[in-house]
Amino acid sequence: MWSELSYEWQVVFEEAWVAFKMGSVPIGAAVFDEFGRLIVRDHNRWNEVGIPNRFLAHAETNAIRQLRTDAEYNIRTCVMYVTMEPCSMCLGTIDIGNIKHLKYAAKDPYNGAAEIPWFESRIRKKNHDYKLIGGEMEFVQHVLYAGYELSQIERGSGTLPLKALEDEFPDAAALAKKLHEAGVFEQWKKEEKTMEFAYDEILRRGHYN
Ligand SMILES: [Zn+2]
Repeated sequence: MWSELSYEWQVVFEEAWVAFKMGSVPIGAAVFDEFGRLIVRDHNRWNEVGIPNRFLAHAETNAIRQLRTDAEYNIRTCVMYVTMEPCSMCLGTIDIGNIKHLKYAAKDPYNGAAEIPWFESRIRKKNHDYKLIGGEMEFVQHVLYAGYELSQIERGSGTLPLKALEDEFPDAAALAKKLHEAGVFEQWKKEEKTMEFAYDEILRRGHYN
C-alpha cells in the first residue's frame, strides 16, 4: 500500500506518474543524501517538447546531470532510488557518476542492464551496492510500464518490450492489458488521479497481496 512506502519510494513513483501522464516512459529517479534529504528528482522526458535528444532523456541520467559535484553532500554516500532497473546508458552514468548505492523497484526484462555480465563484474569489482527490491512496487511499476507500451503500440511502436514483460511478468502484463482496453489509464489521466490513487488501485485490481 502507498501509505506503507517510504518517502523515497513515494518521490520516485510520483515522478514516474508525471512521466506516465505526459506519455513518456513511466520511470522516476531521485537521489537522497546519507541523512535521507532529497537532492534531485526527475523522470523520463521522452515525450516532452523541447528536449534536444529525447531518446537519451531517461529519468536516472536526467537526475544525475543535475547533481553538483562542488556541493556539500558526498555523492559516494548518497543513495539513488529508481522505479525500474537502469538501461546500459543509465547504469553507466550511475557508475561513472560515482553513485555507490542504488535501489531499483522493478526488473526491466527488455532494457535492464544490471544482469549484463560486463556490468555485473564491474559492479562487483567496484564494490557498488546496487539492489533490486521487487515485490508490490515491482508489480505496480510493471503495470504502468506495460500500460505505456500498449499505448505506444497503438501509435505504431514495436511490440518487443511488451513481449519481454509478458514472458517474465505475465500477471502485471495481463492487468495492464485489461486496464488499457477498458480505457482506465486514460480516465485516470483525464481525472488527474494521483500516484497514490493509481498505486493502491493497481494493487487492488491485481489482487496483489
Ligand atoms: Zn536509461
